[in-house]
Amino acid sequence: MSLKNGKIATILNHDQHKDQYGAVVPPIYQNSLFTFESWDDIDNAFDDKSENFIYSRLLNPTAKITEDKIAKIAGGEKAKLCASGIAAISSAILHCVSAGDHIITVNNIYGPSNNFICKYLKDKFNITSSFIDGTNIEEFEKHIHPNTSLIYLESPSSLNFELQDLEAVAKIAKKHHIKTVIDNTWASPIFQKPLTLGIDIEVHSVSKYLCGHSDVVAGVIISNKKLLDEILLAEHELLGAKIAPFEAWLILRSLRTLKIRMLAHQQTAITVANYLDKHPKVKKVNYPGLPHFEQFDLAKKQMSGFSGLLSFVLDTKDIEKIKLFVNKLELFKLGVSWGGHDSLVYAPIISYLKELKPEQFKAMNITEGLIRISIGLEDADDLINDLEEALVLI
Ligand SMILES: *Cc1c(COP(=O)(O)O)cnc(C)c1O
Repeated sequence: MSLKNGKIATILNHDQHKDQYGAVVPPIYQNSLFTFESWDDIDNAFDDKSENFIYSRLLNPTAKITEDKIAKIAGGEKAKLCASGIAAISSAILHCVSAGDHIITVNNIYGPSNNFICKYLKDKFNITSSFIDGTNIEEFEKHIHPNTSLIYLESPSSLNFELQDLEAVAKIAKKHHIKTVIDNTWASPIFQKPLTLGIDIEVHSVSKYLCGHSDVVAGVIISNKKLLDEILLAEHELLGAKIAPFEAWLILRSLRTLKIRMLAHQQTAITVANYLDKHPKVKKVNYPGLPHFEQFDLAKKQMSGFSGLLSFVLDTKDIEKIKLFVNKLELFKLGVSWGGHDSLVYAPIISYLKELKPEQFKAMNITEGLIRISIGLEDADDLINDLEEALVLI
């Protein structure tokens, strides 16, 4: 049995790394540069900077072992780890656009991605954008202009969990010679493989499920070899948002359990979502894994499972009661981010009250009682008991 044809859990748990001492876990190559025997050796290495170890800003062995594993499980040819999810996102987007271009993206993408597209790129490079309802496939073609060079997706999005039909969007984009990038953080490569559906570039916040231990901030870009090498020698080399070898090693450690973690997140999240769905103090549960979720059919078609991040609406708009609910939770720790072993709660209204006017967040379909929870790896019964004790206060 060769590892080449291995399935996901096998790929995640075996390394082809050959260590001189037979160490079972690859070492952390904590070095900035690599030396060569001769003039000819270094001269030859420079002929392919994307494949040879020369300097750790571009390529480091610990990072490469981890990147190869991520590329394989995502169905891509090559991956590049970055210093953060947003570094992966901004590098991938910058690669696809030039000054004066136009981007199509969808409502409710991750906040800093939104700012990067509609503010940073607009102010610095006069790149315009259309934010559309991505749940309606007809919207995409309607907004294509002659200068549209990128369709940027996030499916499902990470607050309302809206999906885009990835195969259909990829088809439209190819017809018009437009590049597609997707933020696939919610589903992880375990449950969704956008590259196999025709999307050009996949990005992740590795800080979420891929690392999963709430101890690393990192990102990754995955694509075919040609496109990834272009990004590597342009945005990655020139902007320099590289991964540290130790962080790459922590991610490699985390990948061993990625599949079993995702299956556990899924099982507990479905149990908790069903509990919330029946609770009289909960008006609505947003979770693509519930059969009555608006886009459940599409979710089943393009994903093979569901992760552990969901949101729900409390049956109250009274901020004081919502505060009581959030403060009462003990197992769900209050904080941003998600995708780790520890369950988390966040009330988006905390940010929106600071940043937006009430009419703005209403227009975004966000109400005071919207609560987002990240289901960790604890026992479902304990999480439900924690929620029950807090819901009584509503
Ligand atoms: C957290 C997050 C990011 C940004 O990732 P960082 O690692 O924090 O830079 C991007 N997209 C989504 C959907 C996220 O939740």
